[in-house]
Amino acid sequence: MTKTKHCSRCDTTKPIDEFYANKATADGVQTYCKACWKTYRSKRWHAGERESQYAWRRANIEKVCEYNRRAGIKYRAKKRAAATAKHID
Ligand SMILES: [Zn+2]
Repeated sequence: MTKTKHCSRCDTTKPIDEFYANKATADGVQTYCKACWKTYRSKRWHAGERESQYAWRRANIEKVCEYNRRAGIKYRAKKRAAATAKHID
């Protein structure tokens, strides 16, 4: 007998192999079926996570600039050190 599981997202009972394994859950598979999981993941990425990353950058623009500036200074210092070393040779 094939094990089945009800997907709470598309409200369909599907064979257990239509669900990704997940050791964290009681029955060892994801709550959503593979099809739902894919749309769930991609939607979350496109609509949520990526947008929140941009929002974070916008909200912390000084931090980002400061970080880039520091990184730039370090890079230039490295280059200068390398150039100086070359001159000694
Ligand atoms: Zn589903």
